[in-house]
Amino acid sequence: MSEETLFTKIINGDIPADIVYEDEHCFAIKDIAPKAPTHLLVIPKKPIPKLVDASAEDKVLLGHMMLMVGEIAKKAGVDEAFRVIINNGEGVGQTVFHLHLHILGNKKFSEDSLGF
Ligand code: 5GP
Repeated sequence: MSEETLFTKIINGDIPADIVYEDEHCFAIKDIAPKAPTHLLVIPKKPIPKLVDASAEDKVLLGHMMLMVGEIAKKAGVDEAFRVIINNGEGVGQTVFHLHLHILGNKKFSEDSLGF
């Protein structure tokens, strides 16, 4: 059996985290080292390592997660303005190889570029 990812350990309760949302398919936690005043991670329970590893069978799961991003952003009070980021690969800074979407809010981002 392959080793459990950090996020699988969190959802199994083996590592503590501030879980702000959970359903059958995904969950959301507060990032331990926030890059914005609101920094949440939306994570599928299925441990897909990277976005490129998702396949057609994950279509419903990925759609569900995008919908939940909106719900979680509303619940966090940042739905007027927030940014969603997925890091795919070490080269752009992915450090946890279990797919996750970053929700970043309550931070002033550049309005005309992807700059941080
Ligand atoms: P990545 O760089 O892979 O896109 O994002 C991984 C994120 O997970 C980082 O923002 C990092 O701060 C966060 N992270 C790493 N370890 C933990 C942890 O043990 N608990 C929580 N809540 N977040 C973590």
